Amino acid sequence: MVNKADSQQVTTAAERAPSVSGASLRGGLVTQGLEMVTSPGLGLINTGRSERCNWSEAVSGPLRIEANNCELRDFSPGTRIAKGALLTARGQPHFAPVAARVEPVAGALNLYPDAHEGETAIPPLAPFAPAMDLKSNLAQIIARAREAGIVGMGGAGFPAWRKLAALSSDRPVVVINAVECEPGLASDRALWHARQADLPHVLAWLHASLMPHRLELAVKMGTQVPDVVRGLCEVLFTPHIYPAGDERILHRALVAPPAERPTDDNVLVFNLATLFALFDAVVTGWPPLSRWVTVLSPDGAPRVGEVLFGTTFESLLSVAGFDDSVRDTCTLATGGPFMHKLVSGSGCVGPTTTGLIVLPESSPAVVATPCIGCGRCDPVCPMHLPVQQLHHAADAGRDDQLRALRVSNCSGCGCCDAVCPSDLSLATQLRQASLEIERRAVAERIAAVTQAKAERHTAREQRRSESRARRRNTPAGDMGAVKRARLDDLIARARDKSSREPS
Ligand code: SF4
Ligand code: SF4
Repeated sequence: MVNKADSQQVTTAAERAPSVSGASLRGGLVTQGLEMVTSPGLGLINTGRSERCNWSEAVSGPLRIEANNCELRDFSPGTRIAKGALLTARGQPHFAPVAARVEPVAGALNLYPDAHEGETAIPPLAPFAPAMDLKSNLAQIIARAREAGIVGMGGAGFPAWRKLAALSSDRPVVVINAVECEPGLASDRALWHARQADLPHVLAWLHASLMPHRLELAVKMGTQVPDVVRGLCEVLFTPHIYPAGDERILHRALVAPPAERPTDDNVLVFNLATLFALFDAVVTGWPPLSRWVTVLSPDGAPRVGEVLFGTTFESLLSVAGFDDSVRDTCTLATGGPFMHKLVSGSGCVGPTTTGLIVLPESSPAVVATPCIGCGRCDPVCPMHLPVQQLHHAADAGRDDQLRALRVSNCSGCGCCDAVCPSDLSLATQLRQASLEIERRAVAERIAAVTQAKAERHTAREQRRSESRARRRNTPAGDMGAVKRARLDDLIARARDKSSREPS
């Protein structure tokens, strides 16, 4: 059993008592989830250009950068870093390199080329136009996504190039995910309004470069979609339930039955911010340097602003209007009310920082009690998992049962946590169980390969020693026997080699 007090989960989700609801997405699928709590009036602060912001604070110490497990070059305070310069070595195998964020010039930061009058900024990457065929376009875009360090900006941080590389050579289905998943966050909404004029250009570029046989724009029900945008794509309206904007849910809405990952069905789902980042990197040559972040606190409306990567959370709170006492006493978390992780004030905004949550220092500790079998968790699971059974299987350490009940499909959305009267951290428990099963499967595969190698090595050594013994026992002058022994040796080696090659 996972105790909430011991986990990284905080209590906001569990304290709410949302009602269960369902709604149909196009394609006839019913999405289960939780009714969204609509956020009250949105306090907009453009932290990127507002005069209220003291951005020099953000770089007064060493730059704080989320490295996505990449090794960063060492920058000391005051180092002049060209805007858009790469901060990590290129070509990391699994994680995208991180592109530079800022150019500290005389204590000020240059966010956009036109931010400082008279100053010219040269894009660090050369823009390029689409070619005539999908294969060349895909190869170029993958290389650019890698070079510019573009990762999923909806929160997951999955390298964009890996998604693109997983597509087949057929024309894909492309889904632009503009559905703000977590209740209370308004970052995607702010981006939607800020760059609405660019959206038709992005869609036209997608048609010319990725040549989708279907281009979908997923937005929340009630969103005003301009006619010019409707003319360039199909619009998929999602209900106001959490987590309607989850990539897996959108995938299920479009493909029935869905494969394990959208890319297995040649479906590419990009969050709106990720898509703009990719478009900018290809068409203008600028890697992403900033993102929209919502600051949520228990009292007061959410505030949202465009924030440079590398800005510390303390600096962000300062420009968002929180006084020092709040910054010193509050607990901070990044993400949304359902899926978040606790962070310290010295952490920094990166591509995946959708929101910064300010929690009161005295958040009540939640102690989990045993499952009472109320059955509330099953109907809210958007992945249609038997949550209660999975919880008991995880408690009992029954890997076979967890696998049979498809624990790997758990997205960790936390809907089940929110309705559980026993305050169980079901999402954390099931995600951990799923990762543990995956880790063990990988370890078993590695052990099997290592053992097979060792067995082949032993057999080879044995054949060699037998061959040497045969040659030693051959009477002197019997050249035919020596040749036969050598031939046997060569045949054995060839057999050994062919047994190692994959069939
Ligand atoms: S079991 Fe997983 S996918 Fe289902 S509601 Fe819980 S956290 Fe979400
Ligand atoms: S909601 Fe909680 S208490 Fe109720 S069945 Fe599910 S795990 Fe058990």
